[in-house]
Amino acid sequence: MTAAIPFLDLKGQQARIAGDLRVRLDAVLAHCQFVLGPEVTALEGKLAGFCGAAHCVAVSSGTDALQIALMAEGIGRGDAVFLPAFTYTATAEVPLVLGATPVFVDIDEKTFQIDPAALAVRVAEVRRAGRLRPRALIGVDLFGQPADWPALRAVAAAEGLYTLDDCAQSFGAALHGVRLGTVADATATSFFPSKPLGAYGDGGALFCQSAERAALYRSLRTHGEGTTRYEVLHTGMNGRLDTLQAAVLLSKLTVFEDELAARARIADAYDARLANAVRVPARVGNSVSAWAIYAILLSDSAARERMQAGLRAAGVPSAIYYPRPLHTQPAYREAHDGTVLPVSEDIATRILALPIHPYLTEADVDRICAAVCANA
Ligand SMILES: *Cc1c(COP(=O)(O)O)cnc(C)c1O
Repeated sequence: MTAAIPFLDLKGQQARIAGDLRVRLDAVLAHCQFVLGPEVTALEGKLAGFCGAAHCVAVSSGTDALQIALMAEGIGRGDAVFLPAFTYTATAEVPLVLGATPVFVDIDEKTFQIDPAALAVRVAEVRRAGRLRPRALIGVDLFGQPADWPALRAVAAAEGLYTLDDCAQSFGAALHGVRLGTVADATATSFFPSKPLGAYGDGGALFCQSAERAALYRSLRTHGEGTTRYEVLHTGMNGRLDTLQAAVLLSKLTVFEDELAARARIADAYDARLANAVRVPARVGNSVSAWAIYAILLSDSAARERMQAGLRAAGVPSAIYYPRPLHTQPAYREAHDGTVLPVSEDIATRILALPIHPYLTEADVDRICAAVCANA
């Protein structure tokens, strides 16, 4: 049998940028400003330009980006932060770390994105219970696709909620012709190595339109410092980005558009060749996905198990994002009000992600499609 296809191919990408990368890393080794060095400032400018945001503040991870954004609003005890139940754990962890309460919202069955109608219902429930103050929405752009931001913003405006876009999986995606980065009061992204734009370690960034917010983010990422290093204005954190990571990201940005296009071509090929065999992911209307994840839906968990085993035997890796919605996780059960979220619970039992990295060859795509069709 031929070798297994990698789920991610960071080595293939590294070979492509090797020369440029080496020059940039050597420049950092020469100047030795390893934290918040000049490459970090250059990266912030490039990223803001890329997504059309007025301000970009580079930070130490996507999780820290979310945390700094909520800290800047003073969100904490007694505050309800609404977020989808079907997402990565970091989205729910951050409000809890700050003493706030995550309120889990169900997702849309077709797009897997947070359901705006369900959000409105959850806000009304929290108001009626009278225990928590509805304060914020963390909308997640899941799997590379934008959430339904026009509808989410309408609910948030009616309810007076601050909006934070968790764009950790979806930097580079666009909604109604505009790249994500400006659809909410603030946008957080992640440069974890497996994200569409990944560093060689942890990293993240915050985007906003407000100069005041950007200044506060800069202060909070460096322990709440003021205009001089030893003036402390806020309770902050160590949330700074390494210069070496910024150098890696600057290098990867030179091929990022091309990689996004390659992911989109693979998604189109999967759609065309798999739609008769399995349920392919619904496209969010008038959007361009960054295709971090391409997730198919099987009829039930037994069918998913059979599919995964069949793919594995054919050397095709697959992964389950996410096997368990967050409101059912032991760590979050206590914070959850007990509401059943049927769509998240159902999707978790039968969703399956196929490889979609930009270095898949046409032969790889043929092999993946044949294996999926043979096991459907
Ligand atoms: C990866 C991810 C994060 C966290 O990013 P890190 O850089 O790993 O801290 C947050 N939210 C979502 C939806 C993610 O996928």
